[in-house]
Amino acid sequence: MEYDTGKGWHDARIVPYGDISISPAAMVLHYGQEIFEGMKAYRTPDGSIQFFRPEENFKRMNISAERLVIPQLNVDDCLQALHELVKIDADWVPHTDGASLYIRPFIFAADPFLGVRPGDKYYFMIIMSPSGAYYASGLDPVNIYVETNYVRAVRGGMGFTKTGGNYAASLIGQDEAHKQNYSQVLWLDGVERKYIEEVGAMNIFFVIDGEVVTPALQGSILSGITRKSSIELCKKWGLKVSEKRITIQEIADAYDAGKLNEVFGTGTAAVISPVGHLKWGDKVMLINNNKIGPISQRLYDTMTGMQYGKLPDEMGWIEKL
Ligand code: PMP
Repeated sequence: MEYDTGKGWHDARIVPYGDISISPAAMVLHYGQEIFEGMKAYRTPDGSIQFFRPEENFKRMNISAERLVIPQLNVDDCLQALHELVKIDADWVPHTDGASLYIRPFIFAADPFLGVRPGDKYYFMIIMSPSGAYYASGLDPVNIYVETNYVRAVRGGMGFTKTGGNYAASLIGQDEAHKQNYSQVLWLDGVERKYIEEVGAMNIFFVIDGEVVTPALQGSILSGITRKSSIELCKKWGLKVSEKRITIQEIADAYDAGKLNEVFGTGTAAVISPVGHLKWGDKVMLINNNKIGPISQRLYDTMTGMQYGKLPDEMGWIEKL
């Protein structure tokens, strides 16, 4: 679908996957005016296909759009487009356990213009690709490196949006983490490098003395759909959940006091990623003996159970194709 100032969104169509042609002067290539989403379609035991809270993705896309001065989308139209597209390529939704069809909606400014201003011409596209099971066998804990030098986002910036620039800013931290044999980066706040923000493509949770704690949404982290769902489930199960500002020092203190029970990341890709090691400067914290904890496991089982239609949709989160 295309957008032109004065005309609005128009010409929605489904075409075979292939290269696209844009001007070398297209604004997105120079000024980064683009946003995207990541979501999945799942195959159930009876062969049907379903989505997990898909309207949340398109609502979030509109939040990203507003910050990047990209025209708003009609969420119902997006959901309809999603259904039509997946229906056509229904065979692409894998039948293999744990696999899914990954769906990537995105918008970019395409006017050929070498100057900084919001675009007048946009493309909204949705591409899809089957993706294998994230965990081949069991939930492998990830090792996370706390970045203390570079910053990914600051309040007032774009951290709460899904735009390429945030990920570009995070590459150097990821590179540093990989050099030190850590697979993921935990970002701290942009002012004091003290408060915990989020992991590269996941939100982060801590279980401290039985209480589930996650950084509050204050404009610099993404409002993850898996984060929101995890909070809602934990509350439903009667667990104490706090969304608050929390420092890495508080985590280290809880660890030293033997009260850091579990650490896990949440995101569409892996749903729940237990954290095995957390490295902050010279301090390496071994979490729950490098094993998945009970709350992480329960969240994983419950959410994947609903997504793959193996558990009842008690929360009303499933949308059937
Ligand atoms: N934070 C960032 C920076 C991400 O890219 C993602 C993945 N979309 C998340 C958090 C988790 O969000 P969600 O649960 O909606 O996938």
